[in-house]
Amino acid sequence: MLRETIRALAESKIAPFAAAVDEESRFPQEALDALVSSDLHAVHVPEVYGGAGADALATVIVIEEVARVCASSSLIPAVNKLGSLPVILSGSEELKAKYLGPLAKGDAMFSYALSEPDAGSDAAGMKTKAVRDGDFWVLNGVKRWITNAGVSEYYTVMAVTDPTKRSKGISAFVVEKSDEGVSFGAPEKKLGIKGSPTREVYLDNVRIPADRMIGEEGTGFATAMKTLDHTRITIAAQALGIAQGALDYAKGYVQERKQFGKPIADFQGIQFMLADMAMKIEAARQLTYAAAAKSERGDADLTFQGAAAKCFASDVAMEVTTDAVQLLGGYGYTRDYPVERMMRDAKITQIYEGTNQVQRIVMARNLP
Ligand SMILES: Cc1cc2nc3c(=O)[nH]c(=O)nc-3n(C[C@H](O)[C@H](O)[C@H](O)COP(=O)(O)OP(=O)(O)OC[C@H]3O[C@@H](n4cnc5c(N)ncnc54)[C@H](O)[C@@H]3O)c2cc1C
Repeated sequence: MLRETIRALAESKIAPFAAAVDEESRFPQEALDALVSSDLHAVHVPEVYGGAGADALATVIVIEEVARVCASSSLIPAVNKLGSLPVILSGSEELKAKYLGPLAKGDAMFSYALSEPDAGSDAAGMKTKAVRDGDFWVLNGVKRWITNAGVSEYYTVMAVTDPTKRSKGISAFVVEKSDEGVSFGAPEKKLGIKGSPTREVYLDNVRIPADRMIGEEGTGFATAMKTLDHTRITIAAQALGIAQGALDYAKGYVQERKQFGKPIADFQGIQFMLADMAMKIEAARQLTYAAAAKSERGDADLTFQGAAAKCFASDVAMEVTTDAVQLLGGYGYTRDYPVERMMRDAKITQIYEGTNQVQRIVMARNLP
């Protein structure tokens, strides 16, 4: 039922704008409005904070179905979960009550600010600092590549509170867009997910009350990594949706397109490509849904499974979208058809929330 609901919404209210959002590199406001009006913009927020209380699998299905028509728009539910999960996992009751309500209502979005210009894969090498000053913390630094920066009201920011302790000297904070000293860089000019704003976040003497710290001092990096264990599955879902969208489009096209006097779907060379695409997607789906169940239960092997799902599904998305372009021939290579956008959008899923090399490091350290 959930899938039917979200698919109908995605096809009627999000898909019609996907090409324009990409072409104009603009935020998919229509998608945000449609998702908020159906309460699908942040389904993971627990009911006690006014949310829909969807479990990890339901959240994955929402993201998958939105990504099937518009990958940029799927970053609304995905990054709302990424940004707020540190608060849900480690925040005080006061922080949860204050920040999850507006998120659930659709009054505010949440971003996640871990990466920096010189700290990507090696996120613990961050330089952003937070210094205690009485009942306040003062934050200074630059966060880079922050999805939905400028659009989101709230930011989970990881910062160094004890430079002698590396990852154990990092703490997490909630920073608000309206806090004095917060500003944003120009939107990055990207290959894909052009509708999702990616900007730097500048923290210039941002003075916030001490109770905005998420969890204990020094636990911020652990919270950030624990968050990724759960949210990499949402990136797997995004990849899965992009791949399914490309397969669905190509499947229709090959039945219409005629060469040598018959639909190209009649050629076995084409049929084998479609069979391989569908087979890989189904394998990615099973891995992703199983990982979502593990996320919900908090299973001990979640770290491996989340990394495996993200790595596998994103590689499948890249292969399947590239094959979809191939199936459309020259037409597939133009912006008159959606598959080239899907191929460009697929690429990011191999890079963010840890590159696929980093996923392999994570898997190797947590072999079943
Ligand atoms: C569009 C977009 C949106 C993003 N959104 C967010 C966000 O909302 N919040 C956030 O905090 N971050 C975000 N990121 C950042 C993203 O997570 C990082 O770009 C990513 O983790 C890689 O870091 P890097 O770009 O510095 O690459 P680098 O770490 O410099 O990596 C360069 C290359 O070296 C490889 N490499 C690095 N170390 C190793 C190793 N030990 N072994 C083998 N290979 C290695 C990498 O896999 C990669 O191929 C986003 C990035 C993009 C592009």
